[in-house]
Amino acid sequence: MPDLVNKHEKLYIIGLMEKLWKLSEKTFDPHRINHYETIFTQGNGYFATRGKFEEYYPKQQEATFVHGVFDDIPVVFTQLVNFPDWTTLEIILDGEVFDLTNGEILEYHRHLNLKNGLLKRSLRWRSPKGKISRLVFQRFASMADVHIACIQVSITPENYSGELECQSSLDGCADTLRFKHWDWENQGVDEDSCWLNLRTHNTNIEIGMAQRIFINKNLNPEREAWNIREKPATSLKASLQEEKTLQIQKYAVLFTSRDCEEPLVAAREKLSQISNQSWDSLFKDHQSVWNKLWDQNDVIIEGDDRAQLAVRFNIYHLLIAAPRHDDRVNIGAKTLSGYGYHGHIFWDTEIFMLPFFTFTQPEIAKNLLSYRYHNLPGAREKASENGYVGAQYPWESAGDGREVTPTWVTHQEDRTNLIRIWTGDIEIHISSDIAYAIWLYWQVTGDDDFMVEKGAEIILDTALFWSSRLEWHSDRNIFQLTDVIGPDEYHDHIDNNAFTNYFAYWHLCKAVAVAEWLTKENPFKAKQLFERLKLTEQTFRDWNNQAHQIYLPYDEKSGLIAQFDGYFNKKNVLASDFDPRTNSIQSLLGIDGANETQIIKQPDVIMLMYLLPEMFEQEVIRVNYDYYTPRTDLSYGSSLGPSIQTIMDTRFGSEHEAYENFIHTALMDINDLRGNTKEGIHGASAGGVWQAVVFGFGGLRFNQEDWWIDPKLPAHWKRLSFKFNWRGESQIVDIRPEISAQ
Ligand code: BGC
Repeated sequence: MPDLVNKHEKLYIIGLMEKLWKLSEKTFDPHRINHYETIFTQGNGYFATRGKFEEYYPKQQEATFVHGVFDDIPVVFTQLVNFPDWTTLEIILDGEVFDLTNGEILEYHRHLNLKNGLLKRSLRWRSPKGKISRLVFQRFASMADVHIACIQVSITPENYSGELECQSSLDGCADTLRFKHWDWENQGVDEDSCWLNLRTHNTNIEIGMAQRIFINKNLNPEREAWNIREKPATSLKASLQEEKTLQIQKYAVLFTSRDCEEPLVAAREKLSQISNQSWDSLFKDHQSVWNKLWDQNDVIIEGDDRAQLAVRFNIYHLLIAAPRHDDRVNIGAKTLSGYGYHGHIFWDTEIFMLPFFTFTQPEIAKNLLSYRYHNLPGAREKASENGYVGAQYPWESAGDGREVTPTWVTHQEDRTNLIRIWTGDIEIHISSDIAYAIWLYWQVTGDDDFMVEKGAEIILDTALFWSSRLEWHSDRNIFQLTDVIGPDEYHDHIDNNAFTNYFAYWHLCKAVAVAEWLTKENPFKAKQLFERLKLTEQTFRDWNNQAHQIYLPYDEKSGLIAQFDGYFNKKNVLASDFDPRTNSIQSLLGIDGANETQIIKQPDVIMLMYLLPEMFEQEVIRVNYDYYTPRTDLSYGSSLGPSIQTIMDTRFGSEHEAYENFIHTALMDINDLRGNTKEGIHGASAGGVWQAVVFGFGGLRFNQEDWWIDPKLPAHWKRLSFKFNWRGESQIVDIRPEISAQ
C-alpha cells in the first residue's frame, strides 16, 4: 500500500491530535470547507447537520438530513431531502458583515469534541476597517431531545464599541443539489421567533421548524422580523462595548409528519417550552446522554494516539447516524453526512455497520433490522417483477424499500458518457447479507422474540427467492447462479460468484434450521407463517436438497476458490504492478480493461471466508488469502476493502500489513484519503474500523456457546479495551500485553 497516511498526515493530522477526543482545524482554508463540513457533522440519530459555518460562504454545501425523509428525483429515483438550514446567522459588527474571506483572521481554531458532540469555533478577526473582535461559536444537536438544535455565539469587541446586529433565519431555499423538493405550506414570524412549514413534493412528508434567538438577559435589544417567503428571519440589535462579551443563543426545533400529526404545532410548542431553559441546562442534558453512549461504546487504545482518536472519530459517526427511536429507517452508505449516494442504503449496513450495533447496542441493531422487515413488501415486489417468488432485497433502498439503484449514471470525467449500472439488476447477494446480519444478531443477543416476530419471516421469504433463482444445470447436475455481480464490482455479468453461491448455500441451510427451530419454539407462529408464505415440509426438504447441489467452487489440488467461472483465465496481474498511482485500477484501465484482469475492487473470496469461516479449513483460507490479497485494489478500490482485509491480515498476514490497512481505513475520512469525503462519511469503513479493532486486533471470536479472544495487537499498542453485550450481559475486554507478559 502506498504511503498515503504519511503524505496526508503532514497536512492534517498534526492539527488533529489535540487531546484524544478533539478533532481540530487550526486554520481557515476556504478550499477545504466541504471536507470539514463532512467530518464535523453533528447529529443525534434523528437528524444530522454538516459542519458548515453559521455565516455564508459561496462553496459551502450545507445540509441537514432527517432519517426517512426522502423525495423523488429523476434517474436515481429518490434522495434524502435537504432541510431548511437552521444554522444561519449573519453577524454585523458595527456596520461590517462578519466574513472570514474579508478582513484578517488573527486567530482561528475549530474543533469537534467527539466526547460530547460540541462543535466549537474560536477566532479573532480584524474587520476591513480595523475593528478587532473575538468570536466563539458553539453548537450541538441534542442527544437528549432529538428535535432540538442549539447555537451559542460569544462576541467580544477588542478595540471598539458600536452596534451589533444579528440576523437569524430558517433558510428553506437550500436545495438538494439543485432539486426543489419542498412545497410551501405555511410560515410566520413574531417578535423573536419564526417558523416554517413545508411538504415534500412527491412523498408528502410535512415538516415544521421553528427558531428563536436570545441575547444576554439584561439587554433590551431592538428586534425586527422579516417574513420572507421560504426564509423567515428575525434579527436583533444591541450595543457592543469594548471588552464586554455579548452572548447570543439560537434554538431551533424540527419535527416531521413521520413523528407526529402536526409538525409545525409540535415545533412551535417545543420551542416555547425550551425558551426558558438556559443553554447550559440544555447542553447538560445532551452531554449526559453522550456520557452514557461513550461509557457503553468507547474503545480504548493506549500507545497509539492517532489510532485512538481515529477510532473514536469513526464510532462517533456511527453513533450520530444510528436511529434510536425509529425502526423504519436505516443508515445510508454516507450516513447522514453528505449528498453521496443520495442517502441510499446498501449491504454496507448489514455487513459493515451492524456488527458494531449488534455487539454494543442491540436495540439499535434491532431497529435497523426491523427496517428490512417493514420493507419486505418492496423485496417481494422486486422478486415478482423479476419472475421469482419470495423476497429479493434491493441493492439500494431508501424510504419504502423498493429498488432505487440508478440504471444509468454519467461518467465522472466525461459527462456526455453514460454508464449502465448493473448492481440493481444482478448484485443479488444482498438478500443473504441481510439474513446473515439477522443470524449474527440472534447468536449474539439471544433475542428469540425478534427471530419469532420478524427475523424468521425475512430469512424464510428470502430463502424462497434463492430457491426460485437457482438454475439447474442438467449436464453437470448442479444448481448454479449465472449473470451476477459479487462484492468485487470490477467484474460483472459473471457466473457462479463464489461469495454468492456459498451464501445461497448457507442461506438455504440456515432457513431450514430456522424453520425447525420456529416449529419447536412457537408452533402456533410457525404454522401461521408457513401458511402465509406457503411453506410445507416438502419446501424445506427441497431447500435442503437444492442447497447440497449448489455448485461451490473449490479446486482440491490448489485449495483455491475461483472467484467466478473463468476468473483464472483473466490477465494475471497484481495491483502493485500499477504503482505508483493515485487512482483505482478501474479508472486507470477503464471498466472493460479492469474486467479483463484478475484485479478485484474489494475482498470477495476473502470476505466470504471472513464471514463464514466455519465453512473452510484454515489452510484453504490461507491459500486463498495469499492469492487474492495482492490482486485486491485495497488503496484505491472500494472503501469497504481495507477494514475486512485488516482482520484477515491479523490472522494470516503480517502485523505490518494489518496495521497499514487498519490505519488507512481509520483515517480515510479524517484525512480525506479517497478525495471524496466531501460527499459524506464512508459509513461502511467506519463500521469496519470497529470490526478491525475488535475482531482483528482484539481477536474476538464466538460460537453458539460462548465468546473468547485471540488478540493480535500491533507491537506498539500498550492496551486495547472495549465493551460489548453477550446475550444481554455486558462484557469487558481489557488487553494489556505488557502486564500479561510479566
Ligand atoms: C462498493 C459497494 C458498496 C457501495 C456503497 C461501492 O463502491 O463496491 O460494495 O456497497 O460502494 O458504499
